[in-house]
Amino acid sequence: MAPRAQTSSASRLRRLPAVDELLKHERLRTLAEEAGRPLVLGAAREVLARVRQQIRAGLPEAGLSDLLLHLPQEVAAEVSEWLGASLRPVINATGVVLHTNLGRAPLGVEAARQVFDLATRYSNLEFDLGTGKRGQRHAHAAKFLNRLLGAEASIVVNNNAAAVLLVLAALAEGGEVVVSRGELIEIGGSFRIPDIMARSGAVLCEVGTTNRTRLADYARALNKRTRLLLRVHPSNFKIVGFTERPSLEELAALARKRRLPLVEDLGSGLLVDLSPQGLAEEPLAGASLRAGVDVITFSGDKLLGGPQAGVIAGKKKLVERCRKHPLFRALRVDKMTYAALEVTLRNYLRGEGKEIPALHFLRLTAEEIGERAQRLRAQLAADVGANATLKVTAGHSVIGGGSTPGTSLPTNLLAISPRRSSAAELAARLRRAHPPVIARVEAERVLLDLRTVFPDQEEALASALREALTR
Ligand SMILES: *Cc1c(COP(=O)(O)O)cnc(C)c1O
Repeated sequence: MAPRAQTSSASRLRRLPAVDELLKHERLRTLAEEAGRPLVLGAAREVLARVRQQIRAGLPEAGLSDLLLHLPQEVAAEVSEWLGASLRPVINATGVVLHTNLGRAPLGVEAARQVFDLATRYSNLEFDLGTGKRGQRHAHAAKFLNRLLGAEASIVVNNNAAAVLLVLAALAEGGEVVVSRGELIEIGGSFRIPDIMARSGAVLCEVGTTNRTRLADYARALNKRTRLLLRVHPSNFKIVGFTERPSLEELAALARKRRLPLVEDLGSGLLVDLSPQGLAEEPLAGASLRAGVDVITFSGDKLLGGPQAGVIAGKKKLVERCRKHPLFRALRVDKMTYAALEVTLRNYLRGEGKEIPALHFLRLTAEEIGERAQRLRAQLAADVGANATLKVTAGHSVIGGGSTPGTSLPTNLLAISPRRSSAAELAARLRRAHPPVIARVEAERVLLDLRTVFPDQEEALASALREALTR
């Protein structure tokens, strides 16, 4: 660096206040009372260090004066950035009911209340209230699951990926698992059946072809090393055309004849018939057990509409082997998960579909959603009419969460064509709202699907839109 540049940057550095001096500013004194002095001190140091760096990089005089004037605000902004939660609620206006990026199923209010009660107090998590002795955590939720599924036994782990891993490790480690080539799927987030298999210590034995697998293909593959037959719900993809696979009953008969367990990874864990909603192809969890499957696994936060969890249910002898495997301890769930799951399952037992938001959203009709979209359009039209065209138009909501692809629900969308910015810019502005609004962008329009917007979020949604379209 030239000597002269050095001198001038040194003189500019001298204009920075000392940290103690900066903290005497009234705004920061108040902030230190609220947020604690150590935090404000740390933020002040960080802000000053940043300015020093800018000066050394050649910040001009004018820029420096402006910065010095705003130092207290900078420090306050730094503190609120440090204290702001990273995980926040958002308004899901995409219409994707089980949006994995947006937290999948939202819990019902009653389930969330139970989580609050259990989380903020002691509980009988592993305590038998009858005997006063140590109890078993896995007993919770099991009575509900067994009744709803018609299962002999059930356990709960962290998610369905963990459930599949545990089942394979406990029932097939060191042996072979027979799977159809048409079911060697990847679910996303790097859950791949062949990889999970390798991790579990079981050896994958692929049978059939991508589009057709017959019962004889399974039968031929069975040998002394075979430990189980695995059926996997293809979840997020669909093979159409020249396809074939044996029915569950046929597979179950083969498994029984060869004295091998049949395991099915169901993915979603549907507990009620959603064929009126067009989900006739999605298998009911209980139906698989009735068809002769020995063990099923599924997610708690897909179509079931509960907390993140993985359920393993079926024959007692097999479920017990999973429970006694060392991995169960590593994959077990916390009291908050049991709390939310028990209440969600009780909602099913009582037939209270409305209490489970995901289920309720799936059942909303296009007319109901259209009326709400029209109301929102009318509310906004007067304020933003000059800046955008607002239209209610027919469309489709995606279910998500790996449920049958190609199945969508008819809906009505509020379509916004902004005049002063691109649709992508409008969507970005909506994401910066409080709470953030997540919408779809298609063909230069921002599309809002109120299927997944809670009625008590509509006002916040309207003001976010008004703000984003008028500023
Ligand atoms: C979603 C899914 C999984 C993974 O379940 P998570 O609960 O996300 O771990 C596994 N198998 C199938 C078939 C799925 O659809």
